[in-house]
Amino acid sequence: TRLISAANQPEEERIEASLRPARLDEYIGQPAMKERLSIYLESACKRHEALDHVLIFGPPGLGKTTLAHVIAAEMGTQLRQTSGPVLERAGDLAALLTNLEPGDVLFVDEIHRLSPVVEEVLYPAMEDYRIDIIIGEGPAARSIQLDLPRFTLVGATTRAGLLTSPLRDRFGIVERLEFYDTADLASIVKRSAGILDIEAELEGAAEIARRARGTPRIANRLLRRVRDFAQVRADGRISARVAAEALELMQVDKRGFDTMDRRLLQVLVEHFNGGPVGVESLAASLSEERGTIEDVIEPYLIQEGYLVRTARGRMATSRTWQHFGLTPPSATAT
Ligand code: ADP
Repeated sequence: TRLISAANQPEEERIEASLRPARLDEYIGQPAMKERLSIYLESACKRHEALDHVLIFGPPGLGKTTLAHVIAAEMGTQLRQTSGPVLERAGDLAALLTNLEPGDVLFVDEIHRLSPVVEEVLYPAMEDYRIDIIIGEGPAARSIQLDLPRFTLVGATTRAGLLTSPLRDRFGIVERLEFYDTADLASIVKRSAGILDIEAELEGAAEIARRARGTPRIANRLLRRVRDFAQVRADGRISARVAAEALELMQVDKRGFDTMDRRLLQVLVEHFNGGPVGVESLAASLSEERGTIEDVIEPYLIQEGYLVRTARGRMATSRTWQHFGLTPPSATAT
């Protein structure tokens, strides 16, 4: 199973919430994004206005939900949370919108999965702070307009390209979260260890950070599993050696690749001779959904230089071949 899918379990959610930084200055990494956002927040506060609508995109586990909470905390308002697939009917969204207080943050996770009818309700709400509601049916039906308080919509999505352009155009602030570097992830691990009362040496935290796939959620998850190992097989302290042994046992390799990453690369090299191969064929070979491959697995492999997207399909790089101790064919991308 994927490390990040476990976030759907209630226990996992509870721990995750406890590890969430509450304010912008506790939010680790993403320096450029934080600097921009702090300016937008400060100026909105000075004008006593709600912050412009914010679209955050990036792979799962990079801190989109956390950032939505941070925005509400910095604005001193409440956060209401929902998600694209949960809002089935226009009325679901209308109910949420009409209950907002001035300045509230409405967080819509997976906003690319809103149905078209719900999206239609969102346009005037975002632009003019009003909604049109149809009352009655047939010839007697009439439409009434309701004014909404000024609010901030924070939308999260795994890829900006999945949004319809009318929706995308209505966000004044668009930010993309990047994978975290090892130093930032090590700080996140140290911070989480402190909160969870786990003894982790700096080098132990760094070892976890190196193998966390650039992702805070995975770093926090690995930390707890390494803690289990440290308590059973060692004296409870997470040293570099204990962390390395634990992660080896969990089959997280030195590059941070997990089983799915390795399977994808292996299929690409062994079945498709390094590509180019279409994402649909890859999906079929791996029995995975195309969306999971594109949003969850590929971004990290691309960023690390093990995969390239070309017009003709996905291709392995010379690094990929070397990773499996194989010699790349001469035409391989470097
Ligand atoms: P997403 O919504 O992008 O899937 P979350 O916001 O739920 O990700 O973050 C997943 C976990 O990682 C949370 O427990 C959160 O505390 C932690 N996390 C994410 N970003 C940061 C950060 N910048 N600093 C510290 N912890 C973070």
